[in-house]
Amino acid sequence: MKALSIPDVLAEVAVLVRPHFGKGRPADYIPELADVPGGKFGMAVRTVAGEEHVIGDADEPFSAQSITKVFSLGLALNRMGDEVWTRVGKEPSGTPFNHLALLEAERGVPRNPFINAGALAVTDMLLDWTADPAALVRDFAGFLSDQALVIDEAVAASELAHAHQNRAIANLMRGHGTITHDPLDVVAAYCRQCALSMSCRQMSRAFLPLAAGGFSPVAQETIFPDRLTRRLNALLMTCGIYDSVGSFAYRVGLPAKSGVGGGIVAVVPGKAVVTVWSPELDRFGTSVVGTAALEAFAQLTSCSVL
Ligand code: GLN
Repeated sequence: MKALSIPDVLAEVAVLVRPHFGKGRPADYIPELADVPGGKFGMAVRTVAGEEHVIGDADEPFSAQSITKVFSLGLALNRMGDEVWTRVGKEPSGTPFNHLALLEAERGVPRNPFINAGALAVTDMLLDWTADPAALVRDFAGFLSDQALVIDEAVAASELAHAHQNRAIANLMRGHGTITHDPLDVVAAYCRQCALSMSCRQMSRAFLPLAAGGFSPVAQETIFPDRLTRRLNALLMTCGIYDSVGSFAYRVGLPAKSGVGGGIVAVVPGKAVVTVWSPELDRFGTSVVGTAALEAFAQLTSCSVL
């Protein structure tokens, strides 16, 4: 049987996901995100070899949200190495991304860098280095995608105005000494970082080092040592989709990161990055249509690390 080309696969995926629209809801705890039309759908594949294929709303910027946690972690690990792991763990949390009780039980040390507590701890580390971690993340993602990126200040302000839970998390960690800066400054920087706008095409380009042994074919530069690249993928595989990471791995079988803007980035090590965006979320904060699209993509291409 002749293998399908990537454009054929994308066209097929777009058909297969149709029944999944209307099953989830856009994030409404960040009011600015509640108004994004639920029917949006974009997908972008960028291969290590340089092929790029897109479908639907792949060039429309969406709110990257928690996907930016991969950029901030990469920056922190590149600069501080294993010292990062003295303040944050590497285990799946089994709890929602904004959970508080586990953090208290574990004396202010977040389970992993992708739940909000862990990402706030990483932002705190970046504050040792720059007064504006969000701009650092924006410029890093911009360098990796070879595009000038912007932070959506309306989304940032909207989240900040409702960031009571994240402020509680940051205060708890300040009490335990996991973070060292003013908790309000950490939360403000974190909300701005999450409000980075990127399209599927830009996201697939920016994540390419994770599929290419740490080298960015877009920036033509080694971004992460090979060993760190494998470790980042391991963290994505075990912690990237929060408390539904097991069923996501079961369905898709690829390291991935979701965000409440409706984006999901999946890495096919050695081959490609696939980004999908569709704003309606399941109860774990992951795009319903996006998960279905990645499941179909993995099945049609037999791309899986498992
Ligand atoms: N900024 C969001 C928050 O803190 C990010 C959550 C997410 O994308 N999972 O709640």
